[in-house]
Amino acid sequence: TQWVYGFGGGSADGDASMKNLLGGKGANLAEMSALGLPVPPGFTITTEVCTHYYANGETYPADLEDQVKAALAKVEAVVGKTFGDVENPLLVSVRSGARASMPGMMDTVLNLGLNDQTVEGLAKLSGDRRFAFDSYRRFITMYSNVVLGLSHDDFEEVLDAHKDRLGVSVDTDLKAEDWERIVVDYKSVVERELGHPFPQDPRDQMWGAVGAVFASWMNERAKFYRRMHDIPESWGTAVSVQSMVFGNMGETSATGVAFTRNPSTGEARLYGEFLINAQGEDVVAGIRTPQSLTKIGREEMGETAPSMEEAMPEVFGQFVTVVNTLESHYRDMQDIEFTVEQGRLWMLQTRNGKRTAKSALKVAVDLAAEGVITQEEAISRVEPSALDQLLHPTLDPDAARTVVAAGLPASPGAATGKIVFDADEAERLAGLGEAVILVREETSPEDIHGMHAARGIITARGGMTSHAAVVARGMGRACVSGAGEIHIDEAKGVFTARGRSFKAGEIITIDGSKGEVLDGAVPMIEPELTGDFQTLMGWADKVRRLKVRANAETPLDAKTARGFGAEGIGLCRTEHMFFDDTRIAAVREMILADDEAGRRTALAKIAPFQKSDFVELFEIMAGLPVTVRLLDPPLHEFIPHTDEDIDALAASSGIDAEKLKRRAKELHETNPMLGHRGCRLGVAYPEIYEMQVRAVLEAALEVKQTSGLAPIPEIMHPLVALGLEMKYLRELTDRTAKAVFADAGDSVEYLVGTMIELPRAAIRAGDLAEYAQFFSFGTNDLTQTTFGISRDDSGRFLQAYLDKGIFETDPFVRLDQDGVGGLIEIAAERGRAVRPEVKLGICGEHGGDPSSIAFCEKAGLDYVSCSPYRVPIARLAAAQAAL
Ligand code: ADP
Ligand code: MG
Ligand code: MG
Repeated sequence: TQWVYGFGGGSADGDASMKNLLGGKGANLAEMSALGLPVPPGFTITTEVCTHYYANGETYPADLEDQVKAALAKVEAVVGKTFGDVENPLLVSVRSGARASMPGMMDTVLNLGLNDQTVEGLAKLSGDRRFAFDSYRRFITMYSNVVLGLSHDDFEEVLDAHKDRLGVSVDTDLKAEDWERIVVDYKSVVERELGHPFPQDPRDQMWGAVGAVFASWMNERAKFYRRMHDIPESWGTAVSVQSMVFGNMGETSATGVAFTRNPSTGEARLYGEFLINAQGEDVVAGIRTPQSLTKIGREEMGETAPSMEEAMPEVFGQFVTVVNTLESHYRDMQDIEFTVEQGRLWMLQTRNGKRTAKSALKVAVDLAAEGVITQEEAISRVEPSALDQLLHPTLDPDAARTVVAAGLPASPGAATGKIVFDADEAERLAGLGEAVILVREETSPEDIHGMHAARGIITARGGMTSHAAVVARGMGRACVSGAGEIHIDEAKGVFTARGRSFKAGEIITIDGSKGEVLDGAVPMIEPELTGDFQTLMGWADKVRRLKVRANAETPLDAKTARGFGAEGIGLCRTEHMFFDDTRIAAVREMILADDEAGRRTALAKIAPFQKSDFVELFEIMAGLPVTVRLLDPPLHEFIPHTDEDIDALAASSGIDAEKLKRRAKELHETNPMLGHRGCRLGVAYPEIYEMQVRAVLEAALEVKQTSGLAPIPEIMHPLVALGLEMKYLRELTDRTAKAVFADAGDSVEYLVGTMIELPRAAIRAGDLAEYAQFFSFGTNDLTQTTFGISRDDSGRFLQAYLDKGIFETDPFVRLDQDGVGGLIEIAAERGRAVRPEVKLGICGEHGGDPSSIAFCEKAGLDYVSCSPYRVPIARLAAAQAAL
């Protein structure tokens, strides 16, 4: 087996298509090399080695060592240096790289190969002793931290002591001999903490770092990140070992990161930051404040230090050419890492850049307009669930705002919440349903769970490409980074800014689009969905086959849904209309009535309300289908339980209180969810469903007469299990309709159907289709009844199932395609066999979940129905499913 793939010197063993084997980083380093771009030579140890490592008691394949030796020898030949050589040492970086970029993984170790001898060689070779010892001290800190598990603080202390001693405040003022002494002390720190000296053999160093990368695949951070992003453990990580280039060799050297387009807004302009005389992660770590790459970027940010364009125009020009090559080669916005060593450009990484939803839309639409990608590709470039970011409110521009501190607009959007300083605390409070804003000096991968739990993130340090900014954009959290005015005192649980102090738990608001931190809660406004959003949605609508409807019962929800492009209502639950304060008394009176006459008296009081509800809804949905589900919940839920409630009801209805109490007791159920509910109500008390059908059809007639356009009511009977039930309900509905139309001397089109939410209904769908003109899969209940798991109580054990990998995802969130989906397929097939034109839809929560929508496309359903705010997500997901 080939375990090792080399790259560099204008060629490579691998290419960009080999991400599974080489990891994203390794595959793209190979691709860039083969493209002839300047990439420091190196080699990648494959993800299969990681898999082997874990399958074989954390050991390597027998022939790995020889393959690494051979690959290293090639690198040495191309670079003209030798690993471990005292005169002319080759130094390398050891970098982790999974298929998908994963912030939970091991940090990169730079300058590996340095020891007490090779550092002298590097000093001679470069003619710069300060540079050599600066590199050595960086290596000792990084290696000790990342591979040996020591804390950064141990080294910071030593460094600070030396700075105090020398009366120096910034690292750049330290001289060669200062770094030399610091290195001596750093090595004693290692010996003191670990009981053995810092490893001097470069080969030991390399295998130590390689082992640490593989070990990091199973660390808690990485596991958490994988769970959050659905990344399977079986993927494994690759390790890339790459010859070093140095951005810390003086004023003509630099290191930086760039995006070919703006990852926040999508603006088609090079965007990024760099630092002169710096190395590696200095830019993202927020230790020094980086400068803009472009002149225009610098001017926009109001920076005084020169941009790369101005400071090193020649390399910058070359960089722009490379960057453009990369974008047109990958046909997508790239996120790029580079280093300039004494005026010479080196490319260290490229990947498709993470971006906000807004940016994703603009980049996709722009690339299509530029002819780089097709409209279909543009559709597939935008993650449907990311649209969520755009559908939610932003800060009202006219609202009064008190700016507490200003920073960088790192990730757009607005959020209000309680101040929290600690990631664990953020997670805890969010778990209790609190909105929190995480406030940190800077963030690191250890904070990811807290960032995820928070509504927004503020950091005091770090630039637009700092960890906090990148992760927040990826998660769709609002973020203000580098708010230097904020001084955090974590121990006291407060931050101060502009002379005011804010305690943990106080409410603040952040405006991630402006980069401002605001006092208190600021009013928000609804988003405007125009421009790129509309363009892309238009393209999506052209290709999708599935119709998209909304679950809505209030006029407000219905209007929102229409605004988001819903093509009708897939589920209008009538009981919500019953719980209204002004109606509940009549509903209770109806339920507690002794006989049909009593029920009819009460129903007559409810009917006018019910009809007027439908009139409002139907006006909004004129011309479109509206599925109305007749009364479904257990009667139990309407029964007054306290004596006080019963006495009130007795007074308002004139019925004897004792009699009401007796009825309430009679109606008590042990297991109401499996009790007197659904169409069993309509079978036992047909007058209830008759009243509802009448209200629906009379309302439709009224809308037809006033607006000239009738909605198309689809009258849905819930919880049907038997063909004969459906027959009874169909006849009840048609009989009522006939009477309504006769009374009115006019008619409207309507359908009668059922919700499929019991396994028996799915299995015997052919029986139901004899009488049902449509099926709507009620996958919330169908999941419940298929698994025998109560949705309301599953929280108690679901986490254990997820932790143990028995459930991959919550079946109430993502459709269980094998089980519940299997029943849907059976029902669709058997229903169509009897009634080919039977209309099929889904109306559970799953109707708004992209992967479940893909299943609905495959199963050949006619429409999906979801909550109003998910309608655009469903439109896009349906289009992607159709491609
Ligand atoms: P991450 O996955 O966290 O981005 P990387 O492996 O990309 O980690 O390394 C982080 C940074 O270290 C790079 O952006 C680059 O600046 C620096 N770096 C990595 N390898 C080299 C190298 N061979 N020469 C110079 N700098 C390097
Ligand atoms: Mg990193
Ligand atoms: Mg990187």
